[in-house]
Amino acid sequence: MVRVAVVDYDLCKPHRCRLECVRFCPINRSGGKAIEISESVGGKAFIYEVACVGCGICVKKCPYYAISVVNLPDELEKRVVHRYGPNAFKLYGLPTPQTGMVIGILGKNGSGKTTVLRILSGELTPNLGVFEVEPSWDKALEKFRGTELYNYLRIVADGSLRRVHKIQHVDLVRKYVRGHVGEVLTRIDERGLLNEVRKMLSLESAWDNKISNLSGGELQRFTVAAALLRDAGAYFFDEPSSYLDVKERLAVANAIRELTPRSAYVMVVEHDLAVLDYVSDSVVVMYGEPGVYGLCSKLYSVGSGINHFLEGFLPAENMRIRSERITFYFRAEPSESTEPRKPYLYWPHMTKKLNNFKLVVDEGVSHMGEIIGVLGPNAIGKTTFIRLLAGELKPEEGYVTTEGLRISYKPQYIRAENYPWTTVDEALKELRKEGMASTEWFETDVIRKLGLHKLGDKEIASLSGGELQKFAVTVALAREADLYLIDEPSAFIDVEERLTVAKAIRKVAEVRKTTIFVVDHDLLLADYISDRVVVFEGTPGREGYARSPADLRSGMNKFLEGVQVTFRRDLRTYRPRINKPGSYLDRQQKMLGEYYYVKPIQHLAED
Ligand code: ADP
Ligand code: ADP
Ligand code: SF4
Repeated sequence: MVRVAVVDYDLCKPHRCRLECVRFCPINRSGGKAIEISESVGGKAFIYEVACVGCGICVKKCPYYAISVVNLPDELEKRVVHRYGPNAFKLYGLPTPQTGMVIGILGKNGSGKTTVLRILSGELTPNLGVFEVEPSWDKALEKFRGTELYNYLRIVADGSLRRVHKIQHVDLVRKYVRGHVGEVLTRIDERGLLNEVRKMLSLESAWDNKISNLSGGELQRFTVAAALLRDAGAYFFDEPSSYLDVKERLAVANAIRELTPRSAYVMVVEHDLAVLDYVSDSVVVMYGEPGVYGLCSKLYSVGSGINHFLEGFLPAENMRIRSERITFYFRAEPSESTEPRKPYLYWPHMTKKLNNFKLVVDEGVSHMGEIIGVLGPNAIGKTTFIRLLAGELKPEEGYVTTEGLRISYKPQYIRAENYPWTTVDEALKELRKEGMASTEWFETDVIRKLGLHKLGDKEIASLSGGELQKFAVTVALAREADLYLIDEPSAFIDVEERLTVAKAIRKVAEVRKTTIFVVDHDLLLADYISDRVVVFEGTPGREGYARSPADLRSGMNKFLEGVQVTFRRDLRTYRPRINKPGSYLDRQQKMLGEYYYVKPIQHLAED
């Protein structure tokens, strides 16, 4: 067995703890040295992996959750591709890009997806786990000689393959790229595709805007456009669907499929399973222990790869990657056993004007403990609707029945500087003082399930996108309120985390007997979380119509009819899959008016 010991140096605080890791280590106690406080890592804990026996005592004893130790089979060591440093994350294996094929990468956050993209795009030279000397491509190539990957890495190493990488955090682009959308894209149009890209990614309305003023969704489409206009041999897209609504996600997926050159290598990292399924030909599953080590699976065809991932077992590797499977239920009809819920909130027909924007709301009722999914594009009036319900805004027509309702809101865009605390611990301490966050169930079902207790005194400003999202959802849920609006909780979090967040939201709705509105453009999540849905129609930024809450079947049908997308069901996992536009199933389902909840049996012939 080989030991992989990782210390999170943001969390290790030797001056605050009692050096439990060093004192309790059985090797240290019997006169050996497996862990010590070392100047080589800035006066923090350092683990000697050769001496460590992997007992896990330090992992349990450290009060700041700074240490992880795993035992891995010896033969795996042959596959080490990169290690960021001593006691840092270790990557085993790399996928082999293929021309003329879009390869999707799927896996938990912290499993090494970005590391893989950085190596394959030539930004990071793999050190093969040796960090005492400068890494070199020659050594890396030597390791892969005789493999298919060698040919690819050779042209990366000698610079003859031009690569383009659409980064995950598009917000950075707002800071670093100057100029206006149209002007910048015109300048980089190396492939003469400016008009196609502008049209496919609906960039017309943002064409004359300054990049620093773009919304998250516009920025995402702008960066995808910029990548597509470059004339390259390899294209890498890291999470291209964040901040986009359903229609925009499909447009981006279509643009990636249709506008990348046939002879190019294309890879996409994506957590929205419907989008990943739609955009990819094959998938690679990344697994391991997030933040500690990551492994790449073999290449699977897209349908079976996603199914294996959901089922938690990779057959080619003979590897269980999760103890339980992720299940999607086919729940077109509300279950009969559900007790009728008590009404919570009634709202009449209302209208509201805000400058050039007009919102029309149909009357409706929500129930205690109910989660209402909100479906619709960005800027269609979803937030305005909630503010009307809470009485924060006065309607021109209609009246507010619920003056003074307290609302708790998790905005779509979260900024660390909007919180009054510096560290996560500070925030948790304050939240735990009173109200819901002081209860045992909130601690267990929200804080611990989302892993916030492990973030310790990490600064909120230094959290990763996914950590910040989970923090923001927890803060919004912890607030004492009568109505909750959680806007796009899925951004930057992985598939498993999405479902954990969904369960935490459900728990709060049930215990508080309140209504929670959840806006999300990941339709698998919307389906998973919603009891009913409110569909918004209209023209973004101009006029919005909030329809009465509808059951999932009619609500999803109405919404998908608006965006002209149909879904079929996967036979093994029941997960919804997007039909190819114009395919037999797409045409048939449109004719029947069944956009979403088709019975899986209809597809026997197709799969
Ligand atoms: P993913 O994209 O799957 O979320 P990443 O490839 O970004 O995963 O990161 C995998 C792990 O490597 C994470 O735990 C991350 O903290 C760690 N890591 C990333 N970059 C560095 C670095 N420069 N130094 C040390 N650790 C790093
Ligand atoms: P969503 O939540 O669906 O993204 P919003 O309800 O935030 O949409 O906004 C709908 C439209 O109303 C947008 O075009 C937005 O710019 C506009 N809007 C929202 N609040 C105001 C306001 N206070 N004054 C003027 N316009 C506003
Ligand atoms: Fe203290 Fe934990 Fe760091 Fe060890 S790893 S020095 S116990 S904070």
